[in-house]
Amino acid sequence: MYELGVVRRFSAAHRLRNYNGKCENLHGHNYTVEVVVQGDRLVDGMLVDFSLLKQLLDALLGRLDHGYLNDIEPFTGIEPSAENIAEHLFRELGPHLPDHVSIVSVKVWETGDNWAVYRPGT
Ligand SMILES: [Zn+2]
Repeated sequence: MYELGVVRRFSAAHRLRNYNGKCENLHGHNYTVEVVVQGDRLVDGMLVDFSLLKQLLDALLGRLDHGYLNDIEPFTGIEPSAENIAEHLFRELGPHLPDHVSIVSVKVWETGDNWAVYRPGT
């Protein structure tokens, strides 16, 4: 089995609606996102082209970059937390991957010290 990952970044504003503390106030983060995929078959020596993975992730992050997450689906109805951003990106990215590749996890850093990962079934 092979695994590989890419890391991309975006900036966005949000506020946590049901939170009693600083994060209930409007503020922004420079988010870092890591996507990990896996598969057991290489094509021309590669599991998947890094540039394809970056392109697919960038297309999703483009919807969020420099936006107010609370106004962007699906975060109009759920908290725009790192956990929910990770799950959202996981679910959106998975169907676009080549057939021989599956998504393992999406990790979202809100700061250099805080991250959340979404990995189904664990
Ligand atoms: Zn925040």
